[in-house]
Amino acid sequence: MSNSVLVDHIHYSPHHYYGRNHKIDTITIHCVVGQCSIESLGLVFDSNIEASSNYGIGYDGRIGLYVDESNAAWTSSNYANDNRAVTIEVASDTCNPYAVTDAAYNALIILVADICKRNGIKRLIWSTSKNDRVNHLNGCNITVHRDFDNKSCPGDYLYNRHGQIAAAVNKILDSGDDVEYDGGQKIYFDISMPYLAKSGYISTGEEVKTVQLLLNAMNYGDLEVDGIFGSATDQAVKKFQKSRELDQDGIVGRDTWRYLLK
Ligand SMILES: [Zn+2]
Repeated sequence: MSNSVLVDHIHYSPHHYYGRNHKIDTITIHCVVGQCSIESLGLVFDSNIEASSNYGIGYDGRIGLYVDESNAAWTSSNYANDNRAVTIEVASDTCNPYAVTDAAYNALIILVADICKRNGIKRLIWSTSKNDRVNHLNGCNITVHRDFDNKSCPGDYLYNRHGQIAAAVNKILDSGDDVEYDGGQKIYFDISMPYLAKSGYISTGEEVKTVQLLLNAMNYGDLEVDGIFGSATDQAVKKFQKSRELDQDGIVGRDTWRYLLK
């Protein structure tokens, strides 16, 4: 079983089932609830948050691999689904309708087409009926997280475009064109994370978004994932540091990173 050649970055998550007991015949698209990069998402999936996806797409349309297609990821709150689905997390806004960027949307279509081609999925079939989706009736081979859990995932923006996504993917599949990509350089994660803080250290950027995503996911805040280390992020960091018996200095340095990613 292969992975997509479209991948720009690999950061394996330990959170997945080993192998699959079903052939891949389903696609499940999720929204991240944060306009993050594929590097940030890799850190989240490598932390103590027991979640992952096979692929992720960043706000910039780059594609990350976190769990090999040969393994079932922990994405959709449903073993039977993730056992047969390739799951994809797409960077999105943090509030309804959880819109994604055009770059991410376009990358999603190409990635799904590639997954279908390599796994012998001849056509992608969407249904607005939950019964069709969860029971794979009428050829339906796309499911959504909200079918299995009390979540809005994949958000109305993507949910309402699933018919359009299927049509665009099928157009590629019908054309017989190869899905190609250049510049698919693989980058591995390096633990040398920068020091971050509200002041005195780096206070904006991708790594700040990573911290915000991690703090939100661990319920230390309800932060806007904007990459700006403001007062709310400062307070959430201090709350997290207190819980881990670290100095409550609001500086995300070596120890705080280590505990955030543990
Ligand atoms: Zn989801």
